[in-house]
Amino acid sequence: MIPPTRLAVIGGGWAGIAAAVSACQQGAQVTLIEMAGQLGGRARSLATGETPPFAQLDNGQHILIGAYSQSLALMQALGVDLGQAFLRTPLRLRYPRHEGLQLPAGAPLTSFARGVLAYRNWPLLARLRLLAAAGGWLLRGFHCPPTWTVQGLTAGLPECVRQDLIEPLCVAALNTPAAQASAQTFLRVLHDALFSGPGSADLLLPRLPLSELLATPAQNWLQARKTDVRLSQRVQQLSRSGSGWLVDKEYFDQLILACSAVEAARLCADIQPAWAAQAAQLRYEPIITVYLHSPGSTLPAPMLALQEGPLAPAQFAFDLGQLGQQGERSGAFAFVISGAAAWVDKGLAATGEQVLAQALRELDWASPPRIQRVLAEKRATFACTPGLQRPPREIAPGLQAAGDYVQGPYPATLEGAVRAGMAAARQALKKPG
Ligand SMILES: Cc1cc2nc3c(=O)[nH]c(=O)nc-3n(C[C@H](O)[C@H](O)[C@H](O)COP(=O)(O)OP(=O)(O)OC[C@H]3O[C@@H](n4cnc5c(N)ncnc54)[C@H](O)[C@@H]3O)c2cc1C
Repeated sequence: MIPPTRLAVIGGGWAGIAAAVSACQQGAQVTLIEMAGQLGGRARSLATGETPPFAQLDNGQHILIGAYSQSLALMQALGVDLGQAFLRTPLRLRYPRHEGLQLPAGAPLTSFARGVLAYRNWPLLARLRLLAAAGGWLLRGFHCPPTWTVQGLTAGLPECVRQDLIEPLCVAALNTPAAQASAQTFLRVLHDALFSGPGSADLLLPRLPLSELLATPAQNWLQARKTDVRLSQRVQQLSRSGSGWLVDKEYFDQLILACSAVEAARLCADIQPAWAAQAAQLRYEPIITVYLHSPGSTLPAPMLALQEGPLAPAQFAFDLGQLGQQGERSGAFAFVISGAAAWVDKGLAATGEQVLAQALRELDWASPPRIQRVLAEKRATFACTPGLQRPPREIAPGLQAAGDYVQGPYPATLEGAVRAGMAAARQALKKPG
């Protein structure tokens, strides 16, 4: 009998988890090595040691869309009940004082057209110009020159459409301001949201702490199948050994590097310098999350879009009480600043105060909100800019990269990470010939 392939996955974020589960399903003998004390990477929850509603905090609010088919399928395969795990609604951009664009349920393309036509906050001409622009994108197969920014792509649209729709969608999907964001990647996300079948443009807001969506079920699933899951172990060194690889002197037939691009570049610097240089040149955009506490308060909707400005850092607010299962997070609110480089420079304390002032100005509160926590992820996602050269998945025979940053159609997203992890596992275990 042929012994199973010994495969190591280095890094236990969503890409590494997807790779480990997929490799295990294909019969490999998998070792998953994670530097942190828990799986989940950039999409994890932290036990704070505080009392509810802040006993557990996500490192940042995450949103999925219906088109994230592989992430959703992976969660389901691990036994996660998607109906319980997410609040799923057709795309809706609700603002504090008025309803924003809202798509009715149904086939995404027709519901987009119906939603735009019905949105009377924009003059009719603005709605028609958006539909005409979308028709043009459709005719060109959602392709545009790779050097274009989202701002350039949408320059002909009325200001109200850019401000109320394009900019919030761009910063939410690409975590990069429209003036710097890749139009090609933006169009790809729009394409998948509108063309991946019914519900593909739906928003899925987590009702559970992030770790319960994937990291914890995956760890239980892997350990039940005798996968070696090692936490708090940072891989220091890789080297070739015959037809396989040594990971800190331990032999494996195949390796999947699912750690950050920075760490992957360090580990591969001598093995494949050109690949390492490409991974090392990526630039990053931060995300700041400001958690507010206001007992007894609720927002007009579980998720609100906010008008960003020089004195208004946050683009979205989430009412965690409305999202939680049994009111256990009631009174907790998350305000999110994507593309937050300028606010990181101003300092987290000052940014927290500015968000609090924005929240007081724009929303009604049953009790005075106060700042609970300000969390910053300085390398939340790579900056998704035009013409960006992302490193390929293959590094060397038997050595692959998996992560949201490897070449692929998506910006840095959970779905990009999961797809990369699964593709790497498939390739690693491909039968010769
Ligand atoms: C605040 C925030 C909000 C976000 N919002 C959204 C959103 O709304 N929707 C969306 O789709 N995406 C969102 N993202 C992006 C999403 O979280 C990432 O795209 C995804 O989690 C990346 O997963 P990954 O596995 O590629 O990388 P990571 O999660 O970074 O995983 C890499 C792992 O490797 C480990 N590691 C590194 N070096 C080593 C080593 N030497 N040895 C062992 N282990 C190592 C790290 O500890 C880490 O766990 C958000 C990200 C942040 C930070």
